[in-house]
Amino acid sequence: MKTIRLITTSFIILITGVLATSCYKTKKADLVVHNAVIYSVDENFTTYQAMAIADGKIIELGAEREIMNRYKADKFIDAGSRSVYPGFYDAHSHFLGAATNKGELNLFGVKSESEMIEKVIAFAEKNNREWIVGRGWDQNIWAAKAFPEKAKLDSLFPDRPVYLMRIDGHSALVNQRGLDLAGITAETKIADGIIEKDAQGKLTGIVIDGASTLAERQISPLKNTRVAELLAETEMECFKAGLTTVTAAGISIKELLFLDSLQKQGNLKIGIYAMLEPEEKVIAFMQNGPFITDQLTARSFKLFADGSLGSRGALLKKPYSDQPENYGVFLLSDSILDLYAKACYANGFQMNTHCIGDSVNALILSKYAEILGGITDLRWRIEHAQVVSEEDRHFFADYAIIPSMQPVAAMSDMAWAEERLGSDRMSDAYALKSLKNQLGFLALGTDFPVDNMSPINNFYAAVFRENANGEPKDGYRMDEALTREEALRGITIWAALAGFEEEKKGSLEPGKNADFVILDADLLKAPKKDILKARVLETYVGGISVIEK
Ligand SMILES: [Zn+2]
Repeated sequence: MKTIRLITTSFIILITGVLATSCYKTKKADLVVHNAVIYSVDENFTTYQAMAIADGKIIELGAEREIMNRYKADKFIDAGSRSVYPGFYDAHSHFLGAATNKGELNLFGVKSESEMIEKVIAFAEKNNREWIVGRGWDQNIWAAKAFPEKAKLDSLFPDRPVYLMRIDGHSALVNQRGLDLAGITAETKIADGIIEKDAQGKLTGIVIDGASTLAERQISPLKNTRVAELLAETEMECFKAGLTTVTAAGISIKELLFLDSLQKQGNLKIGIYAMLEPEEKVIAFMQNGPFITDQLTARSFKLFADGSLGSRGALLKKPYSDQPENYGVFLLSDSILDLYAKACYANGFQMNTHCIGDSVNALILSKYAEILGGITDLRWRIEHAQVVSEEDRHFFADYAIIPSMQPVAAMSDMAWAEERLGSDRMSDAYALKSLKNQLGFLALGTDFPVDNMSPINNFYAAVFRENANGEPKDGYRMDEALTREEALRGITIWAALAGFEEEKKGSLEPGKNADFVILDADLLKAPKKDILKARVLETYVGGISVIEK
């Protein structure tokens, strides 16, 4: 295969009008993509040179002359020998959360507590919403590595509530006014979370898991019109990153119906795989069966079983290496777990449980095994599957449970994960390949906005196990890396399979949606150093170009 050296300023893909129609062109298409290296990502990983599309679906793939001689079309795209892939599918992300975060203070990447406070002050001046809401701080990247405390916020904002969520969404720093509104005092007892106190027993303002939810409930939501604007912005970012289907993990029925209404009005075009969150009406909703439209699928339900490793809420079999009395938190009760697992099973819903620690993975896998009773096609998933003991891995194969993992997470966590887990447990963590081997596949996502949404970064992290700065050199635990083909499947067909959408998405085959991307690099063959530089030139959803130029 010859590689094409690109001149960056002239990558524009040639679009030509109807070519002189010769009599041998007997078939009609809306669009023909040709002179391409099309990775179909079908069963045999076949590549083609050309593809014909009509009514938003792929009708035929083949060799250049074969397709060009056969089809008349309104539009031809000469891809200039560049590579074409199925539109990327993020199997675990928070599309709605990523959008609403944009209406709030962005604290991703702040380098210290004082930088965070400065940002809060500047944001508070410009913003007249009652609560000051921010998200994204991470004490692990600060010099002191300790959780921030509320004292400074209390003196700056005695009368205005402040809620600053940590990067993982599992904990927050809340000022005294916010704690008061949430009814949290030093005496509050909470089973599914942690209210942090200092040595004197005073509140520090750090609330973890269920305790942060208590405060979050007091925050009035953004207006729908604003959310719609923010969703449109987020959708465009996704398209530019090459994503054509994303996950809305953990949304309410009301939010689902809002997304559906935006799609029906033509204001959202991206595919959405929704996972419903626990709420009173959800079982009644499940009893009506899966909710499926062209671009929205809701047939799964998501539970949080533990917190995150970063905030030491992940439930471990043995205590944290850097906090010897702490095992993390179990966010469910046995009866709640049983209730939802049985409801999902009875109504043919997929159950997706957020599991980080080895203890919670073991517990949820055994619960799934008990309810499923053997191999089924319910495709129940473990979200993250971050630390899974070797002795528990067999459950994935024995009960056809899908690991839904985030290669970029290991890259974000590796600097401190060993402090939390100790060296002995590290071989159980971020084990992409070992878990893939159980069932023969796994679904890959980024968990954006927790990590960057780029499927190319995620591919790179899965294959080379390095972050975007090329650290650690030569990769982190390369024995758990995926091959390029596996990583590409993970962000396309395997993700679609984990969302019951493999009949219409995830690969380029006749009858499937014409969701595809054109990249300026060949992910399967380009040298490692060029992968992170790869750019998405075009994104198509249902045969329509969706990137604003
Ligand atoms: Zn998530």
